[in-house]
Amino acid sequence: MHNAMTIDVEDYFQVSAFDPYLSRDDWDSMPCRVERNIAEILALLEASGARATFFMLGWLAERYPDMVRQIEAAGHEIASHGYWHWRVTQQTPHEFKQDVVRARKLLEDICGVAVYGYRAPSFSIGPTNLWGHEVLAEAGYFYSSSIYPIKHDHYGMPDAPRFAHQASGSKALIELPVTTVEFRGKNYPAGGGGYFRLLPYWLSRLKLQRVNGVDRKPCIFYFHPWEIDPGQPRQAGLNFKTRFRHYTNLGRMKSKLELLLRDFSWDRIDHVFPEVAKHSNAPQA
Ligand SMILES: [Zn+2]
Repeated sequence: MHNAMTIDVEDYFQVSAFDPYLSRDDWDSMPCRVERNIAEILALLEASGARATFFMLGWLAERYPDMVRQIEAAGHEIASHGYWHWRVTQQTPHEFKQDVVRARKLLEDICGVAVYGYRAPSFSIGPTNLWGHEVLAEAGYFYSSSIYPIKHDHYGMPDAPRFAHQASGSKALIELPVTTVEFRGKNYPAGGGGYFRLLPYWLSRLKLQRVNGVDRKPCIFYFHPWEIDPGQPRQAGLNFKTRFRHYTNLGRMKSKLELLLRDFSWDRIDHVFPEVAKHSNAPQA
């Protein structure tokens, strides 16, 4: 079974957990690490023959257009992570629409292919703002991968469907939730992020195998370029929880990803999900 590999392309200083410590005005003065990290990720994917979907932050794409074109030329799907990396919960519908229209147009202008996928920063579409789906459909997107059907302190919609479904906020949009495993009536995260970095690899593998084998469904996995970069500058003043979640096991991430790429078959979202592919002009896998 093919699973969907996804990368949320933001740099280390753009993560939502750093919002209280850095303003958007500071971004221009931060040393970007994204180009070198993307080069490593492209090499990793190439070595295992995997393809992936890259949810690109507009702010970075504008500054590194050649990087976006390079990702696209390597056979990967270009999708949108918005322009400014504001959580959807922090925006009005009007502000959200401006942000997602801007990012989509920018990405399409840079690489000359249609962009129809979106992932909300910090999975910030949930029970209080399902209007986000309608806005995305109006902005020309076909799918969203913005709901994490778990309980978490910053995000989550534990009672959302666990697998691909028509978005609750718009009939024109498909929602592709990040992978969870269900155990005794509760959902647990299985689709990457800090959990993958902090917990032993065998546990992640077991959970993904369960989704493929028991649920008979493809997985959607995600990670960030800064997670493979132990050499990134350290942000001062972080509280313990943020520091722990951001910096633990950065040095082990790359070898874990190598195992993950070896143990499962990975492709881009528009190849793995026929619901998305039938909307798009993407070549079928
Ligand atoms: Zn993000």
